[in-house]
Amino acid sequence: MTSPAEILGLPKPAWAADEVGMLYDMATRFMSEEIAPRYDEFEKNEMVDRESWLKAGAAGLLCASMPEEYGGSGGTFAHESAIIEAIGHVGVDGFGIGLHNSIVAPYILHYGSQEQKKKWLPKLATGELIGAIAMTEPGAGSDLQGVKTRAEKDGNQYRINGSKTFITNGQLANFIIVVTKTDPEKGAKGTSLIIVETDEVEGFERGRNLDKIGLKANDTSELFFNDVRVPTSNLLGHEEGQGFIQLMQQLPQERLQIGTGAIAMIERALALTIDYVKERKAFGKAIIDFQNTQFKLAELKTEATIGRVFYNDCVTRHINGGLDPVTASMSKYWLSDLQGKVVDECLQLHGGYGYMNEYPIARMFRDARVQRIYGGTNEIMKLLIGRSL
Ligand SMILES: Cc1cc2nc3c(=O)[nH]c(=O)nc-3n(C[C@H](O)[C@H](O)[C@H](O)COP(=O)(O)OP(=O)(O)OC[C@H]3O[C@@H](n4cnc5c(N)ncnc54)[C@H](O)[C@@H]3O)c2cc1C
Repeated sequence: MTSPAEILGLPKPAWAADEVGMLYDMATRFMSEEIAPRYDEFEKNEMVDRESWLKAGAAGLLCASMPEEYGGSGGTFAHESAIIEAIGHVGVDGFGIGLHNSIVAPYILHYGSQEQKKKWLPKLATGELIGAIAMTEPGAGSDLQGVKTRAEKDGNQYRINGSKTFITNGQLANFIIVVTKTDPEKGAKGTSLIIVETDEVEGFERGRNLDKIGLKANDTSELFFNDVRVPTSNLLGHEEGQGFIQLMQQLPQERLQIGTGAIAMIERALALTIDYVKERKAFGKAIIDFQNTQFKLAELKTEATIGRVFYNDCVTRHINGGLDPVTASMSKYWLSDLQGKVVDECLQLHGGYGYMNEYPIARMFRDARVQRIYGGTNEIMKLLIGRSL
């Protein structure tokens, strides 16, 4: 197969050169050798095993952008992008280390006390702790202000009650950032982020590993908190009520990261499909010789190129501290929409084989769908972009 990284024939942006490029190559090797051969088993078990997380930690693929003093590799979001792109290019999209690396760990780095950083980040970097963030509840998805999970102060502890759903890494995670209300009267201003180390507490229960249509190798769960007690020192930030602001500040990176997965899968889908249509014959010629195939792929390659250039620009801005939330929302919505379109059109060019699970395009079709939903639905992204008009 033509390399997905080279399928668009674009020059590499400055941020993807040198050590980021080397990390991409190393992550691609790791995913190809350690994860891809077992991926069918992980899909069947509906989770990647803990051992693979530890191996990823040992290989330096966890917390690549965390400072070295906390066990990370001292990189930037460019390094995280390289790892997520490798996952997408190899086609092991259900390995949830993107969320662990560039969503969970940064909350600790940005809002944790020195003590919290020293306690948790090194274990997140080895994979001893697997991270999750629990925002969504059965009654609060897009409208995060409606969160009902309650954290009440009781001496030097918080007592947490409530339930969460759709939580990525939910079966494996032993380090969960829980979005709670510490003061329900105050709405968004009464929201706080509190860490629950699940190995350390009583009253925490995991519900079902939810039966999804795609991303089968990624565990997604309900979580229940019944009088779960954690020390007040597990609050993120120096005072209560900061949770909503912290979420708003971190969501742009989460949204950009969804764009990373999108552009990586788009490139893989194109690479695979171009190979396929050159091989497959109908009416005495290769499928690529039909003008419709060429026009379709020409359109998709053009749009993918626009997407990649936009994505690269977003990363450049982000690592220089200048990616605004509106542009991050554009990257999430536009790239995930394009991902859906590209995998659908590529599947069509595979004919009936595209509908067979043994063909990678079929899995991509299933895995791509959720990208328009999680991390804030694409409708919510448009709402945020609309407010800037
Ligand atoms: C596989 C998977 C993994 C996930 N991982 C996590 C995770 O790790 N942590 C976590 O906290 N959550 C996670 N989620 C939850 C996800 O973020 C929510 O599903 C998403 O934010 C939408 O919320 P909802 O499902 O309640 O939909 P709703 O909020 O009920 O939305 C239903 C529909 O109404 C639309 N809608 C809602 N409000 C508006 C509006 N104001 N204007 C226009 N349209 C609107 C939505 O766009 C959508 O189309 C995950 C979800 C999935 C499916």
